[in-house]
Amino acid sequence: MSITNAQPTPEALLRRLSRLARRSLFGTLSETYRTCGRPGCRCHQGHKHGPHLYVSFRGPNGTTGYYVPQALAEPMRAGVAAWQELQGVLRELAELNRQRLWARKPTRGPRRSDGSSPTRATSHLRDDSA
Ligand SMILES: [Zn+2]
Repeated sequence: MSITNAQPTPEALLRRLSRLARRSLFGTLSETYRTCGRPGCRCHQGHKHGPHLYVSFRGPNGTTGYYVPQALAEPMRAGVAAWQELQGVLRELAELNRQRLWARKPTRGPRRSDGSSPTRATSHLRDDSA
């Protein structure tokens, strides 16, 4: 096989994107401690309830958010982590797209004597051993 550990194919990246997107959740996680309304509760003496997982994000009317039920805290964290990983994969894909665009760029000038592909020229540029 000609598969090296150099670069994933766009198809492989799209498969990863699809997997991650299916469990992605959006927002910034933070933990808060709260006091309740019960009179005489220990939370009013400084032992606040928590941590409560809170998700904030920028909505159309500014920053907003919601509390995550305790039972859903773990999958919520995993979902936000998936979102962040998704951004990384998207960047990889965007870089591949850029390389493809560059490779497709019409070569101006007369020097196109040999049949070397622009892709190969790019990989030559990359291994500059100093
Ligand atoms: Zn309380």
